Amino acid sequence: MTYALPHIEQITPYPVTEASLDGSMIKLDQNESPFPPSQQVIHLMANLGEQVMRQYPDAAAGRLRDTIAAHYCLSRDCIVIGSGSSELITALFRTFVDQRRSAVMPYPTFALYQVAAEAANASMSFIPTRDDYTIDTEALLNADAAVIALVNPNAPTGRLLTRDQIEAIVRRARGLVCIDEAYMDFAGEEHSAIPLTQQYDNLVVLRTFSKAYALSGARIGYAIGSPAIIKAFEKTKTVYNVSSISMALAAQAMLDQSHMLTTVAAICATRDRFIAELIKIGFDVVPSQTNFILCTPPAREGCPNAPQLVRLLADNGIAIRYFNAARLQDKVRISIGTDEQMTELTSLLRSFYPYA
Ligand SMILES: *Cc1c(COP(=O)(O)O)cnc(C)c1O
Repeated sequence: MTYALPHIEQITPYPVTEASLDGSMIKLDQNESPFPPSQQVIHLMANLGEQVMRQYPDAAAGRLRDTIAAHYCLSRDCIVIGSGSSELITALFRTFVDQRRSAVMPYPTFALYQVAAEAANASMSFIPTRDDYTIDTEALLNADAAVIALVNPNAPTGRLLTRDQIEAIVRRARGLVCIDEAYMDFAGEEHSAIPLTQQYDNLVVLRTFSKAYALSGARIGYAIGSPAIIKAFEKTKTVYNVSSISMALAAQAMLDQSHMLTTVAAICATRDRFIAELIKIGFDVVPSQTNFILCTPPAREGCPNAPQLVRLLADNGIAIRYFNAARLQDKVRISIGTDEQMTELTSLLRSFYPYA
């Protein structure tokens, strides 16, 4: 007997993989950074005092918000901090969407949105992307939803909309537009919609320290929008949602831009080399502006298909991601690791898909 509400009973949980903390696997399945965070962050972590555990954190997250505000030249009241941007995705549905005010998103996209909508008992519909996974912005607008949510660059496709395309959506939307920029550090800040939040009061942008800043385990994300939107998020997020430790580390990480930019440049260069190798082997690759790629293994007699490839690589100590979902079933998503890791992966792939 379960005592959960009917809409909770019906949720298909977000798929999580068991963490392999022993470091024996090459992890190319969660789009984490293959590099350590900034040395300044590591140094700070080693020198934190005991009061960061004994005392409650600053509920206003003042220092971290001020650091982010200074970085983007905004005021602190345009920013709210989440326990990862995942918490803010959950808050988005609790705050702005219900059974009558629905949300719309392109498909495919980050699966957590659907889970969050179902948990909030909120109504959501999907507009299919085109065959090449580009987003049909006209169809999104025509859905006339209370919230248009977009991941930009999109996951798991890697496709990017330009800032002009985003602005056109924001200008014409009748409701709120939420842009999840988890991977924008890889695409380039010039594509970010953050500056538009100063001009439009129906726009909110989500960012995270989990990817480019190599702080997935610290669980820090944030939303940027008008003070009114941010106040609404403040009411629905958990109080004391992020630890003093994580906030201190994230602020330090943002101050060391040079480390973030150097690792991002290395990852993008490795990505482009790896894509060229994949194409030589016969893979079909969706163009990517992120630290991962979506690709289709060559359909050759006797060679592994997508789910078989994932198992075969796992047996060889490399984790990549398979989505058992519409339009993704013949594909795999591979996060970009270090050059050495991708070279090891490439030689395994050459052995699985010979004759190319
Ligand atoms: C990784 C990711 C996030 C970030 O999640 P956190 O909770 O901040 O770790 C958000 N959106 C998308 C699309 C992602 O891929």
